[in-house]
Amino acid sequence: MKDDIRIGYGEDIHRLEKGGNLILSGIKVSEEIHAVAHSDGDAVYHALADALLGAIGQNDIGHFFPVDDSAYDNLDSARIVEKAKNLTKEAGFAVINADLTILLERPKLAPYVKEMKKKTAALLEIIEDRLSIKCGTYECIGPIGEGRAVKAIALVLLGKER
Ligand code: MG
Repeated sequence: MKDDIRIGYGEDIHRLEKGGNLILSGIKVSEEIHAVAHSDGDAVYHALADALLGAIGQNDIGHFFPVDDSAYDNLDSARIVEKAKNLTKEAGFAVINADLTILLERPKLAPYVKEMKKKTAALLEIIEDRLSIKCGTYECIGPIGEGRAVKAIALVLLGKER
C-alpha cells in the first residue's frame, strides 16, 4: 500500500524578452514577448516534466534534454512532457491529478486557460477535472512582477497501475 502513490514537484523560470511568441502549457499566449530558452521555452511544461520525473525518483529534464545539445533547439516542450510521462508509465505509474500555477505579469492568461487545460490534460492522458491551471501575477514585485520573467510551478500525484 505504501508504494501505491507518489507525489512530484517541479518549478521553472524563464527570462522574457521582446519579440517572438510566448508559449505556456502548449498554447501561444503572446506574439510580443518570448521566453529565452533553447527549446520553445514553455516554463509550464518544463515544470510539469520535472514534477513527473521527481515523482518517480528520476533525474531532471536537463539530463534527458541537455541544453548544449543543438538537436533540442526550438523543441516543442510537449515532447519533454511526453518523455517524462512515458518514463512514469515504464515505472508502472499513471497520473492521478496535476496542479499547475503560472506566475506572469502580462498578458492576462485567463482567456487561454480553457485551451491550455484541454491540450495538457490530453498530453497527460487525464480528464480535465483532474488538472488545474491557476494563473497569478507577482504584484509588480521583482523580475516576475516587472514583466521580465515567467515562472511555473507543478505538482503531480501518481498512482500505481494495477
Ligand atoms: Mg525551462
